[in-house]
Amino acid sequence: MTTQETIFSKIIRREIPAEIVYEDNLALAFKDVNPQAPVHILVIPKEPIAKLSDAESQNHALMGHLLLTVKRVAEQVGLNNGYRVVINCGEEGGQTVNHLHLHILGGRAMQWPPG
Ligand code: C5P
Repeated sequence: MTTQETIFSKIIRREIPAEIVYEDNLALAFKDVNPQAPVHILVIPKEPIAKLSDAESQNHALMGHLLLTVKRVAEQVGLNNGYRVVINCGEEGGQTVNHLHLHILGGRAMQWPPG
């Protein structure tokens, strides 16, 4: 299932500014405007899938691509000592923007469990 227009669609179309760190034909990565760690980057699909629970089997390759994009971007920005990847899904998952996004958090030691 795809979603309605969100602020991330506008970032993809360059209608609002973002600090983009990586782009290819399927995915975009940009710095989170409200960073929760020294490095906080969002990786999003260009296809506006609203949330992880909306992903379908036809999105199989895209889902793998997003994870490999996380790895690529983490290497690109020098997260050599590890990092955390978070996908908030739906209301109770803490998702606030209804366009699937993978958070890359790094540059400090992470705590567990998350809040
Ligand atoms: O997982 P969740 O939906 O809560 O995360 C949305 C993220 O999008 C937040 O970390 C927020 O800071 C970020 N954001 C952004 N640029 C915007 C709007 C939201 O980086 N223009």
